[in-house]
Amino acid sequence: MKKFDVAIAGGGLIGGTIALELAQAGLRVGLFDRQEPGQEASWAGAGILSPAPESSAMISLVPLGKASMALYPEFVRMVEEISGQEVGYRPRGTLQAIFNGDAREELSTVIALHHGLGLKAEPLSAQDARVLEPSLSEELEVAVLRPEEASVDNRALTQAVLEAARRCGVQFFPASGAEATWRQGGRCVGLSLKNEKIEAQWTIIAAGCFSANIEGVATYAPVRPAKGQMAALRADDLKIERVLWSEKIYLVPRNDGRILAGATVEYTGFEKGLTAGGIEKILAAAIELSPGLASARMEETWAGLRPDSPDHLPILGPTDADGLLIATGHFRSGILLTPITARLVREWVTQQRVSVDWERFSPMRFQSASAKRVPA
Ligand SMILES: Cc1cc2nc3c(=O)[nH]c(=O)nc-3n(C[C@H](O)[C@H](O)[C@H](O)COP(=O)(O)OP(=O)(O)OC[C@H]3O[C@@H](n4cnc5c(N)ncnc54)[C@H](O)[C@@H]3O)c2cc1C
Repeated sequence: MKKFDVAIAGGGLIGGTIALELAQAGLRVGLFDRQEPGQEASWAGAGILSPAPESSAMISLVPLGKASMALYPEFVRMVEEISGQEVGYRPRGTLQAIFNGDAREELSTVIALHHGLGLKAEPLSAQDARVLEPSLSEELEVAVLRPEEASVDNRALTQAVLEAARRCGVQFFPASGAEATWRQGGRCVGLSLKNEKIEAQWTIIAAGCFSANIEGVATYAPVRPAKGQMAALRADDLKIERVLWSEKIYLVPRNDGRILAGATVEYTGFEKGLTAGGIEKILAAAIELSPGLASARMEETWAGLRPDSPDHLPILGPTDADGLLIATGHFRSGILLTPITARLVREWVTQQRVSVDWERFSPMRFQSASAKRVPA
């Protein structure tokens, strides 16, 4: 029987980075994926690194987002150094475009919200915004510059993290999906695969939107897939420096000149089909924000499945089964939240305490009050 200090189900960016961090702490780590690792949401995402809340429901996520943002430069440096691969980190800020009739009022609200949360945000006239980003529409009313935000090429980052993990001694098991957590009494002692049991002192579920399909996990991580359709464009005569963001769309420039446009949010189960309506919506909004994109070449379209939780917040931390941890439900912010997620899991596994309060994200929050018991 294979035996590890830590067995991780799911080799996306979250599981891969946890594996890397725990291997660096000296633990023997096995990374189990039902397919080749790194082919799901972590491949499909846009790679925007923004701790700004997209709605009032997400305000409680801001401190975790800020903590992760602060770890990013060192995380990128470490991953690039160990893997020998570049990850396309662009700490160049976000420009939020505001178009509607009540633009001035919205501008004050956005600025006040950001400042109240300790996030930098600077008001810009349409003219000043177009000096920074000449491709922006002339219909623009006002804009907000969020200078501390960034983006990363999440496909490159995921591959680099997996390579770094390999080089640090993590053992990979592709085509080895977990069917269930393996329990003995109140303890989780590893994973059950199709024809094999894996013994581990710590078991970590990081299987993205598929996590709830692993027997014994759904009560802690009742996640569901939220499909996002995306398009990649290329326009030789149009330059976008920062992430451009409007109510309807975001545009994310990559170092290789591609401009990513996205994304829909759809609850259509575990299918990744593209639709005419979805792609039409993305392209129309992209051209409205940056009209020069009308003549851009379409390079690629795709869709991926975000792991969404009932309250749209991540599901992180220990469960009432000793040795079992959950790290999923990162929804629209999993690329941003990767470094802090891996840091907190490593702290818990190695010291049984964490440096940032993660109680709000406990996997026990979906269980009835009487059923809750998290080991100290
Ligand atoms: C269109 C789109 C745009 C996005 N944009 C952004 C963005 O701009 N910024 C941001 O921060 N986030 C963004 N996200 C969200 C982000 O991509 C996700 O939150 C993050 O990638 C989740 O990572 P993960 O490792 O948990 O999941 P995944 O990357 O989905 O990995 C899960 C892994 O688990 C494996 N698996 C499944 N079942 C099993 C099993 N039974 N046993 C073992 N392994 C299993 C899968 O094969 C997969 O490799 C976006 C997502 C999408 C889809």
